[in-house]
Amino acid sequence: MSSTDLWHPFADMHDVKNSQFCVTKAEGSWIYDDAGRRYLDGTASLWYANVGHGRNEIVEAAAAQMRELESYFVFNDFTNPPAEKLATRLAELAPVEGAKVFFTTGGGEAIDTAAKLARQYWSARGKPERTHILSRGNAYHGTNGMGTSIGGIDANQAGFGRLVPETSRVPHDDAEALRSAIETIGAEKIAAFFAEPVMGAGGLYPPEPGYLEAVAKICVEHDILFVADSVICGFGRVGSWFGVERWGLQPDMITFAKGVTSGYLPLGGVVASGRVAAPFWDEPGHPFRHGATYSGHPTVAAAALANLDIIEREQLPARADALEKPLHEALLSLADHRAVAEVRGGVGLLGAVELTPEVLDDGGLPRLQKKIRELGVIVRPLGKALAVSPPLIVTEEEIGLIGEAFREGLDAL
Ligand code: PMP
Repeated sequence: MSSTDLWHPFADMHDVKNSQFCVTKAEGSWIYDDAGRRYLDGTASLWYANVGHGRNEIVEAAAAQMRELESYFVFNDFTNPPAEKLATRLAELAPVEGAKVFFTTGGGEAIDTAAKLARQYWSARGKPERTHILSRGNAYHGTNGMGTSIGGIDANQAGFGRLVPETSRVPHDDAEALRSAIETIGAEKIAAFFAEPVMGAGGLYPPEPGYLEAVAKICVEHDILFVADSVICGFGRVGSWFGVERWGLQPDMITFAKGVTSGYLPLGGVVASGRVAAPFWDEPGHPFRHGATYSGHPTVAAAALANLDIIEREQLPARADALEKPLHEALLSLADHRAVAEVRGGVGLLGAVELTPEVLDDGGLPRLQKKIRELGVIVRPLGKALAVSPPLIVTEEEIGLIGEAFREGLDAL
């Protein structure tokens, strides 16, 4: 008999139904299980608890907004003060000229919004044949229709039948491969290129030096919209607000989610440049017939505003920058372990330790994850690696605990 009725995303319920890990409480960079044991949240939950857990000012902001106006939609001409204020704040922070902000309820919905917006932009510009969407091998762009179709992790596409046509992948680290793909398909048929600044769920791959700058330039040369998927990289994670600034990128669209509320309430969205917004905003007859019930939800927006206040006041992007080296060094110290194949990271508070083929074949990855958890640290399996992405309020001492738990876990293998 199963001990649960909760169907867990991405899980093999056959295995999970009788062995779950129940989280009941969290504070700062720490979480607690149902037996009262505490663990360092080495992954900031699912890459999102940027300001850490239990921040009362976000709770209070959401509660105050709920008492005033818990929710109302923003379709057509309806609006509300928190949604307005948040859109303006994000537009001002974004490294994009003439930015306009479209809200969704998460990252996957933001991806579908950006992909549909790209296609409709070209349609509105008299080029409806520009529909093709390019993305990268290993990419993760969520699990909605478009996101599933443009994702680069094969297992996430298997068994779903025919996905959205006119999409294809290029190798994740080779700018020239993008150029060749554009030449083969024909730029006049391509709407957009989607890229995560640092690839997250596909295995934690920081960009090769010069890669992002090169692909951004190739997109400009071929008049292809460049969409940065900053769902993980935004809101301080790699040292800046929108996760693209350190490479000097000015994308046509940026998708965001996660850190925008640090997960206190679900929110995502798209920042569109003035160029992309122009046909919809400056010319009559182009409504964007797209949007979900909870777009512009005022309580969610109020929580996001309080979260941004904390990120700003505590200078968390700069903090991530300062802690980048200690985290990378803690993981690099494991590189010579005989169970370790590679250490990746060095870009903000993101890192991964990949295990050797022998250890992987022997089922070492889930065993190591569990062992490290028993040692009191949460890490996350991604392909052949275990990833870390702690809250941006993590201390150097706590980063040390992550390194120590890894070492002890690896030794136990
Ligand atoms: N894009 C990226 C880069 C992501 O990492 C994720 C989620 N991990 C998504 C999109 C999808 O976001 P959500 O799970 O909120 O739909």
